[in-house]
Amino acid sequence: MAKTKPGKKDLESYTIKGTNKVVRAGECVLMRPSDSDKPPYVARVEKIEADHRNNVKVRVRWYYRPEESIGGRRQFHGAKELFLSDHYDVQSAHTIEGKCIVHSFKNYTKLENVGAEDYFCRFEYKASTGAFTPDRVAVYCKCEMPYNPDDLMVQCEGCKDWFHPSCMGMTIEQAKKLDHFLCSECSSDEDTKRSMNNFHVSPLSEPKVEPKRRKR
Ligand SMILES: [Zn+2]
Ligand SMILES: [Zn+2]
Repeated sequence: MAKTKPGKKDLESYTIKGTNKVVRAGECVLMRPSDSDKPPYVARVEKIEADHRNNVKVRVRWYYRPEESIGGRRQFHGAKELFLSDHYDVQSAHTIEGKCIVHSFKNYTKLENVGAEDYFCRFEYKASTGAFTPDRVAVYCKCEMPYNPDDLMVQCEGCKDWFHPSCMGMTIEQAKKLDHFLCSECSSDEDTKRSMNNFHVSPLSEPKVEPKRRKR
């Protein structure tokens, strides 16, 4: 017979207090912030354990919101965007207040309705340097910005690039009514080469070490 280690015991799941919601390793949760004015923290549960007194602890990997990142929120960051950080922690399971789903960017853009529990992640984030992986992403439109899934874009039938109505001098209502759209370059006869630029998403400054901001 295998001996069990005294002390900590791995748990399959944890049921959130006062609910029938069951959390398992690999799932994402909302955790109560120490400052109640703040939105909940989002984390991925890596492991669930109970100590000899049956106190349940969760090992989590934090998601950062854009405003919590060194570079701050940028125009192309979506309202429900999160960065999967390299910042791990052990928390009491009591701080879990709900479950959520962090979708891949592609799956998020395909959701018909975005619920309160839906988030997306397209970047990993190194908390000490502010660096993102991937470091570069495709850009669209004349403004050459990465795609913000909250913003409506229209596709040009000529070059197949996507454009913000405002950058093309249209309102969103006008753009929604269009049956066909050609961008200004494609509708003029000029044969201008499309730039294949991409956008540098990490802060350009030298990496610096930032003190841990989340004390709990
Ligand atoms: Zn634009
Ligand atoms: Zn075009």
